Amino acid sequence: MQLRGLERWISLVRLLALPFVIAAVAAATFPHGTWAMWARITTIAFAAGAVGLFALARSDIGSRHQIAQSLVAQLFDTGVLTAYVMVFAFERGTPVQQILYIDLAAACVRFEILGGLALAGVSAPIVAGFEKLRTDQLKTAFSWRLVTFQTGLEILMALIVGWLVRRLAAEGAHAEARAEEAERLHEAERQTVEELRRLSALRADFVSLVSHEVRTPMAAVIGSARTLAQRWRELTAPQRDAFLALISDETDRLAALIGEVLDSSRIDAGTFSYSFDELDLAALIGDTVSTAELHRDSVKIVTRIAPDLPVVHGDRARLRQVLTNLIDNAVKYSPEGAPVDVWARAENGSVLVQVADHGAGIAAEDQRLIFEKFGRVRGTASKPGTGLGLYIARAIVEAHEGKLEVSSALGEGSTFTLTLPAH
Ligand code: ADP
Repeated sequence: MQLRGLERWISLVRLLALPFVIAAVAAATFPHGTWAMWARITTIAFAAGAVGLFALARSDIGSRHQIAQSLVAQLFDTGVLTAYVMVFAFERGTPVQQILYIDLAAACVRFEILGGLALAGVSAPIVAGFEKLRTDQLKTAFSWRLVTFQTGLEILMALIVGWLVRRLAAEGAHAEARAEEAERLHEAERQTVEELRRLSALRADFVSLVSHEVRTPMAAVIGSARTLAQRWRELTAPQRDAFLALISDETDRLAALIGEVLDSSRIDAGTFSYSFDELDLAALIGDTVSTAELHRDSVKIVTRIAPDLPVVHGDRARLRQVLTNLIDNAVKYSPEGAPVDVWARAENGSVLVQVADHGAGIAAEDQRLIFEKFGRVRGTASKPGTGLGLYIARAIVEAHEGKLEVSSALGEGSTFTLTLPAH
């Protein structure tokens, strides 16, 4: 039960009841001055308490100590109602003791069945006291029947009303849980839609990218071949060599592109195969770096490999592919001539290989994207590429039970770290 809202409501009802109580006390003809005095004292106490509880229900303290507030309010109500039952006990034919039912209802709403039963127990001596006062006053015989009848009725009411209140609370909680669940489902759906939209945008980018990546080298190859065919005799030997080298480079680029597209679809289909072996990573890194340097005179690759690097269990060709991709990227996305560092060392039962560059860096919000299929950072689109390299690299590393991560900041270069379990 929402005690906070409940106490606010009851405190308002108390204030509304106040004028009626005052009118009733004013209109009554008490048998004795003492009775009138007690009636007035009770009413003053009631008025003061009603105002105080009204303020409490709307205060910070009330909202911080809700159960304590309800307990105080319950004690106050019981006290005041008991006092009125006694004060009006002299009235012949008015069943004043029945106002205790109101108290019972409040106890049920506040504390469910247990609260109701406790109140029924408390009210039995009150009703007995009332009967005693009344029979003394009216000079009639004391009857236990009134006490047992009212207490029995109160117990039944506590059982029924308390149960109702508990059920309401349970239903409220259930409805709330369902609303939360619906909210969560809705949120999950929204995220899925968002993700699908992002993927489909990536795919659309990819189509234009690949068509560009295919068309440019094709045009170069076709143009060079035509020129060679039509003007073979007029061309000097170095010119012919240049055209042939161009054809060779561009067809390499096409083959690499097709290779990446095929690899990524094999990864998606789960048919990308590996052949694991014991591997000397230091030698593999040395080889890969030499090959990378072979094509580029301007790039300086600084290698630092810790001695006694542990052996790893891996697929030589695939890991070479990963290293080549990392080194190629480091060169590709750095200014002309900037050095690239390749380090390797053992750490906590793993082998770490790091490829660091002094390029433009990758913004934090793009560091997830670059490992996704076709994921490329906007602005790097002027460089050739498909956005498949790191996707394939990560898949390969994960198949080795390793990790491939990036740490980078815009303007500060990037460091890609490959972690492989030592064998
Ligand atoms: P590609 O290089 O073919 O675009 P990759 O999957 O290898 O594909 O790389 C994805 C993207 O990550 C690149 O397009 C580039 O935006 C970014 N990137 C990768 N490596 C680096 C790097 N060393 N420095 C800056 N950006 C990088």
